[in-house]
Amino acid sequence: ATPMSIMVGTGRAAELGVLFRRGDALERLRSTDLVVFDKTGTLTLGRPVLDQIIVVDPVGEDEILAVVAAAESRSEHPLAAAIVTGAEKRGLNMPALEQFTAVAGLGVNATINGRSVVVGSPRFLQQSGITLDALTEKAEAARQPGASIVYAAIEGRPVAALLVADTIKPESRTAIEALRQRGIEVAMITGDSAQTAKAIAGELGIETVEAEVMPGDKAAAIKRLRDRHRTISFVGDGINDAPALAEADIGIAMGTGTDVAIDSADLVLVGGDPRLVGTAIDLSQKTLRNIG
Ligand code: ADP
Ligand code: MG
Repeated sequence: ATPMSIMVGTGRAAELGVLFRRGDALERLRSTDLVVFDKTGTLTLGRPVLDQIIVVDPVGEDEILAVVAAAESRSEHPLAAAIVTGAEKRGLNMPALEQFTAVAGLGVNATINGRSVVVGSPRFLQQSGITLDALTEKAEAARQPGASIVYAAIEGRPVAALLVADTIKPESRTAIEALRQRGIEVAMITGDSAQTAKAIAGELGIETVEAEVMPGDKAAAIKRLRDRHRTISFVGDGINDAPALAEADIGIAMGTGTDVAIDSADLVLVGGDPRLVGTAIDLSQKTLRNIG
């Protein structure tokens, strides 16, 4: 492609809401045969809401929620925000947070009123030597398809499961259908549990799913997909998507995403509309056909 045709192509893309940060990405995009999407904030709105809390000891529901929310109050994770907002909605007073550590892709450790509090994924609690069994059964039975479950333990004892649901973006289904119609394969990658991931992927018609992927492993997951694919585009929004955005042949960031993700991407989708992935691929093919 000539510099002129690239300029015209990227100009047209900008009008449609696709901002190219690197001009050469327009050319590479043309041969995309696999688009890998991050789940949270990319295919879903990324603004989860606390739906339900299941407690081991029902008497203390509000107290437990207040403690869990306090533990989450300094986390930047969307699930943490859902729990804090949920506690605020109930008008609960959060106790003081004495110690706090966030563990990326797993959860948080805190000390509140001199007691140790662990909040996060089942894997995280297991790693901390906490056995969930009975609580997991109850939580799984109450779970809406696609909802995430956050577990909490105080002083090593499981105390609650929090059901938190995110909403699929209204454009996601169409976005994926459009790619498949072009003969492009679609995959989803997430740090969330396999059950949650499968439910969301099922609703969207995505067959290839990688769940429980640690933040540091998203790039390695892209590398593995290289065996079967020529040109891979990765679409993400979070800080933990930055390595995968860099690893993919074309990194696509949501305009609603974090600065770190945008800085690692080749192109940015204004307003975070996933349908713009197809728009961008169309444009790359047209631009390069025009100059034949
Ligand atoms: P995603 O790829 O969906 O953005 P992350 O890698 O950020 O997911 O997190 C993976 C999983 O780790 C979450 O689904 C959740 O189970 C757990 N987790 C991480 N941080 C927190 C937190 N602050 N509170 C509760 N759970 C957390
Ligand atoms: Mg995300």
